Amino acid sequence: MAQTTTLVIGAGVVGVAIAHALQARGRKVTLIDRDTPGRGASFGNLASIAVTEFMPASRPAIWRQIPGWMLDPEGPVRVRPAYMPRLVPWFLRFLAASRPTRLRALEAAGAALCARVYDDLLPLLAETGLQDMLSDEGCLSLYTDEAELKADRDHIAILERFGFPHEVIGRQAIRALEPALSGKIGLAIRFPQNRTVQDPYRLVLRLTERFCGLGGVVAQGEVVGFDRSDRIGGVRLRDGRNLTADEVVICAGAFSGRLSALLGEPIPLETERGYHTQIMAPGLRLRHSIIWPARAFMVSPTAGGIRVGGTVEMAGLDAPPDWRRAKVTVRRAREALPDLQVQQTTEWMGHRPALPDTIPILSASARTAGVFYATGHGHLGLTYAATTARLMADLITGQRPPIDLAPYRINRF
Ligand SMILES: Cc1cc2nc3c(=O)[nH]c(=O)nc-3n(C[C@H](O)[C@H](O)[C@H](O)COP(=O)(O)OP(=O)(O)OC[C@H]3O[C@@H](n4cnc5c(N)ncnc54)[C@H](O)[C@@H]3O)c2cc1C
Repeated sequence: MAQTTTLVIGAGVVGVAIAHALQARGRKVTLIDRDTPGRGASFGNLASIAVTEFMPASRPAIWRQIPGWMLDPEGPVRVRPAYMPRLVPWFLRFLAASRPTRLRALEAAGAALCARVYDDLLPLLAETGLQDMLSDEGCLSLYTDEAELKADRDHIAILERFGFPHEVIGRQAIRALEPALSGKIGLAIRFPQNRTVQDPYRLVLRLTERFCGLGGVVAQGEVVGFDRSDRIGGVRLRDGRNLTADEVVICAGAFSGRLSALLGEPIPLETERGYHTQIMAPGLRLRHSIIWPARAFMVSPTAGGIRVGGTVEMAGLDAPPDWRRAKVTVRRAREALPDLQVQQTTEWMGHRPALPDTIPILSASARTAGVFYATGHGHLGLTYAATTARLMADLITGQRPPIDLAPYRINRF
């Protein structure tokens, strides 16, 4: 019998992990990207395996703060005024995802993925010789005082409900773990499982190398159309080439919605744009990543310094970056890390693929046989990549996945 050929569209961390997993299941896989692998959101994320951050953004504790954030040009969420009308349908779905019963279901769906992240990630790193990429330490969530900690209580309550380990620590223990932190920080929660990948871009490159070493093909080209009759037959590229395939997996990050629309299957995918500043020679060392929820930034120790980022900007796929967003997070990070040196920096902007109900689409197409989707991973694409690959490989090869995939189906909206 001829080997099944699979085309994976998008060589971000999600696509590369899926290509690798399908290859291991005997598929003949081509990975196609309009750019070189790993240059999308997977290039510059905050490197965190953020297993305690799965909760839906549409919960009331968050959306009640949105009007205030909107009025603050330096707030954690910024919507560019010109983009507001385009965002209305997405925002209505976001509100619909805040019904109490729906929220409970979304929390459970996020937790089910996070609970198995290391079951999938550790074997993938071991198999590819990348175990050393993962830090031993977790993440510290920072609070100046009890009042700030209390404001984060709905997050903690959800973690407790699903049994994710965490411990509250006081000033002395914080100083002992991270001497560079300001004396302003009076309390922290330690999340031991939120470990950090040294270099998310290198992770994609190494997985791609491994995939190619085992006979996988990486092609460069922009997919602009599909060939299909009763099922998928292949894709059309901007340069006029056609590639044939028995199966197509769409994992083009925030751009997946443009491809699904070409297949007559619209999905409410937006982009939550995010920025990072990579600081070389920061003049201090961090063992943990840190988040300060009240100031809405994150700092991660990465290869070649530390990386500062966070916040959300809703401005679509085509608007130019607003680098002020990156500078705000650095200013806030200096509040937590008073000795931080910021002479040598680079700034970056990336597109998180964001669905209004926070959980990704991991699904067969509801319209075209042979088409599959793995997209909408939002703030957790790095975290979910290995698990997504495992689940998609099961789905595509007709094996029973270890968790129920119904919550992640494409036609749930
Ligand atoms: C500032 C920031 C911080 C983040 N921090 C974290 C974190 O700490 N932990 C975490 O888990 N996640 C984090 N994320 C989210 C994470 O980076 C994303 O969820 C993840 O990278 C998405 O991966 P992807 O493979 O789906 O998309 P991408 O990495 O964007 O890859 C999509 C690929 O598809 C290609 N493509 C698009 N259209 C086409 C086409 N028509 N034809 C061919 N190719 C196409 C693109 O060129 C791109 O290479 C962060 C994101 C940002 C922006």
